[in-house]
Amino acid sequence: MESHSHAFGVNNVTIKGAVSQTLTESVKKEALSLGFDTVGIATADRADGFLFYQDWLARGMHAGMDYLIRYADLRGDVGRLLPGTQSVIAVTLAYRQPEPMASEVKIAQYARGRDYHRVLRNKLKKLAIRLDVLVPGHRHRACVDSAPILEREYAHRAGLGWFGKNTMLIDSRRGSWFFIGILLTTLPLDADRPAHGGCGTCHACVDACPTGAIVQFEGRWQVDARTCISYLTIEHRGQFTTDQAAQVGDWTFGCDVCQDVCPFNQARASQPLRASPTREADLRPSRTWPDLETVANMSYEEWDRLTEGSAVRRAGFEGLRRNARANLRNRHEGSR
Ligand code: SF4
Ligand code: SF4
Repeated sequence: MESHSHAFGVNNVTIKGAVSQTLTESVKKEALSLGFDTVGIATADRADGFLFYQDWLARGMHAGMDYLIRYADLRGDVGRLLPGTQSVIAVTLAYRQPEPMASEVKIAQYARGRDYHRVLRNKLKKLAIRLDVLVPGHRHRACVDSAPILEREYAHRAGLGWFGKNTMLIDSRRGSWFFIGILLTTLPLDADRPAHGGCGTCHACVDACPTGAIVQFEGRWQVDARTCISYLTIEHRGQFTTDQAAQVGDWTFGCDVCQDVCPFNQARASQPLRASPTREADLRPSRTWPDLETVANMSYEEWDRLTEGSAVRRAGFEGLRRNARANLRNRHEGSR
């Protein structure tokens, strides 16, 4: 979603001091009124973690996600996605589910409701329309996990969270069960300060990861996609090797373990926002899942109906059946 109208030409207008502050406050107010949980503003400079990201790619930790390499150069530079970008509006939307899953099919929390791309994109589109009313003629572009941009880096710079050892962005008050949405804009807004925080001596996610995928390299923690269950069950194409089939355990789509164990995601009287369920109705469970046996043997038409409008579609027809077959095998092996 990108507006190309040039009626007003904000790029050529200097918005200074109090005006920019008021505009920034209005942008934030509008974002929160649309239901986003948090909002912050980052400068459009090159992403700090870009060199690290390139290093991660160079070491092959992206596994089979070759599309990450294709657009790698674009990721650190928002100006190439929207020429003239002056500010990066970062928003979050919590997705934690109110109830555990009823089915034996095990799906990561973020994918149990309506496809988040659509939910976030719709809201960002509304935000852009409201900004158009405030300042007609500026240009903007919404990015939700689809454009090549290091969303977490910009969200961190916008003050919305810091990086945990599990590489998730963690908001000290709210934990890490949230999506990140980005709206690039040619509007000059007042930037926030980067978020500060850290895991301290905690090691819970590293110890709990079923496959040992959270590793440290040159002082920075990262997830090696080659052994991460999320990657294997969602992005991996083709059949599993015997080792991979065993690694996915009972996860049919994604994996929540490294977030489940994080102390920042545990409810506490002094931190009521941690682990609180999503307020967004569209992100709550929207379908009833059949049992594993049915998923493992479903027809294309059944898969098509079951996954319509869901992020689970990403695994593909063959991928989802493959995952369910591996779950059944692992259950059988475990019970022997
Ligand atoms: S998603 Fe699961 S497999 Fe991947 S790093 Fe986290 S705990 Fe490990
Ligand atoms: S579980 Fe502990 S080490 Fe892992 S991200 Fe959370 S606080 Fe950091």
